[in-house]
Amino acid sequence: MTLNICAQQNNTTPRMENFAIVIHGGAGTILKENMTPEKEKAYRDKLNEALEAGYKILEAGGSALQAVIEAVKVMEDSPLFNAGKGSVYTHEETIEMDASIMDGKTGKAGAVAGVKTIKNPVTAAFAVMEKSEHVMMIGTGAEKFAEKYKLEIVDTSYFFDQNRLNQLRQLKEKEKAVLDHDGASGYAKPDSSEIEFNIDLNPDKKFGTVGAVALDKQGNLAAATSTGGMTNKKFGRVGDAPIIGAGTYANNNTCAVSCTGHGEYFIRNVVAYDVAAIMEYKKFTLQKAAEYVINHKLEKQNGKGGLIAIDKKGNIAMPFNTTGMYRAYKKSNGQQEIKIYKD
Ligand code: ASP
Repeated sequence: MTLNICAQQNNTTPRMENFAIVIHGGAGTILKENMTPEKEKAYRDKLNEALEAGYKILEAGGSALQAVIEAVKVMEDSPLFNAGKGSVYTHEETIEMDASIMDGKTGKAGAVAGVKTIKNPVTAAFAVMEKSEHVMMIGTGAEKFAEKYKLEIVDTSYFFDQNRLNQLRQLKEKEKAVLDHDGASGYAKPDSSEIEFNIDLNPDKKFGTVGAVALDKQGNLAAATSTGGMTNKKFGRVGDAPIIGAGTYANNNTCAVSCTGHGEYFIRNVVAYDVAAIMEYKKFTLQKAAEYVINHKLEKQNGKGGLIAIDKKGNIAMPFNTTGMYRAYKKSNGQQEIKIYKD
């Protein structure tokens, strides 16, 4: 008996367990000179906590879907990032959050947009995917749905943040200057309707969307993205984060992608899906496809942002065309990094 077991062990190639998780906490003009050591440590610690939360699940044999949810939840619960607790304010001084999730194995996806009372929008996106026949729910309907499935609902005061509010009010002042044709707002023009839509592109104030992509031991990919959107957004504006194919995409045959940046560009360029499509049709590697979309296609249009991506072999890519992007990854082969700046 013992001999048999030994023989079997000797003849069997040990199964390589290849799994990994990548996360982001938003791209923007994140410069070392604007960062205090304390602030940098706080970001690094929180990114590490999110990374570990997801990695632990993968290590225990859990699904990529569960891993991305847990990682995103950690960042949604932190005031450091523009998602959940740290969401930025709309023009009307309210919070309106968007989130989405996609399962690379089944192609199923779920999303919520414009929600104001769901503590962890990523869990609501998952509930839409799992418990309904729909892909996206918005506003009060999405909130009712989340309540029905016993997700945590909070009072809007939970999201109150004086710094974020100051940020918005400063921007509104700048907007007044733009309307007065002063011109020197210092903010990039998202499109020709700047007067109507002077959203905050000043990055440390900033693109702080969070996201995660993962490959689990079963070879399945998943992606999730969550955001408060952009400071001073108006009239029910929805960005790329909850739009499948724009801010989030996953397909076991190609890759899983989560984006951050100026959403309008990511929607128009269908960025997350584009990375997967370029891999599939042009046979580019993940790295090459992701770099091409962010640093060539978007950059040419002055579309600012970045993305994280992982393929079925566990290769990862984290390109961005801003000065920084909060990002981190951990792989089963022991490689691990947390990065903020362009280095
Ligand atoms: N992509 C998000 C949006 O446009 C913003 C961000 O990445 O921070 O809503």
